[in-house]
Amino acid sequence: MGLKQYLKNIWEAVYTIALGMKITARYGIDPSEEITQQYPEEKRQPAERFRGFLHNDVPRCIACTMCAKTCPVDCIEIEFVTGEDKKRKLTRFDINIGRCMYCGLCVEVCPTKCLTHTDGYEKASLSRGELILHFVEPASAEEEEAQEKEAEPEPAPAGAAPAENPSGKEPEGTGGEN
Ligand code: SF4
Ligand code: SF4
Repeated sequence: MGLKQYLKNIWEAVYTIALGMKITARYGIDPSEEITQQYPEEKRQPAERFRGFLHNDVPRCIACTMCAKTCPVDCIEIEFVTGEDKKRKLTRFDINIGRCMYCGLCVEVCPTKCLTHTDGYEKASLSRGELILHFVEPASAEEEEAQEKEAEPEPAPAGAAPAENPSGKEPEGTGGEN
């Protein structure tokens, strides 16, 4: 390497460092040039169609289970009871947002549009259990008892003939094996 090339390399090194420092100084001095967001004090506003955490507007949910059947990763758990009016009532609607991949398929199939994406994306947790969202309060022991009673058939009055078996099949466990 000749002296000329050597001096040229030194000049290039000094010039590129000065150029970089000029940009650094500009960002350091001019607040309008700041692009770093001071998260979590400053939160990023997601785009309008961002698919964040799911929300179920429970009063509008008909417990059809379409969302759970459609979910490719089985992260929606649904339990329900059927009332005397034949309407289903949710007793459990859980979404595991730790497993959810925010594909939006469940929202697409929901017939009442009660299942929606929110713009929520913050859920730092210490345990996986905290990532399960419960949309229905667990029923109290009294409520569960009342629901079980509702589901049980009315006891036949004393002396009445036993109710006919509508299926015509012999109940399990009563076969004639001896
Ligand atoms: S967004 Fe996708 S992965 Fe998440 S619950 Fe709905 S269907 Fe399942
Ligand atoms: S698809 Fe909609 S209405 Fe049906 S169970 Fe899911 S959230 Fe409820």
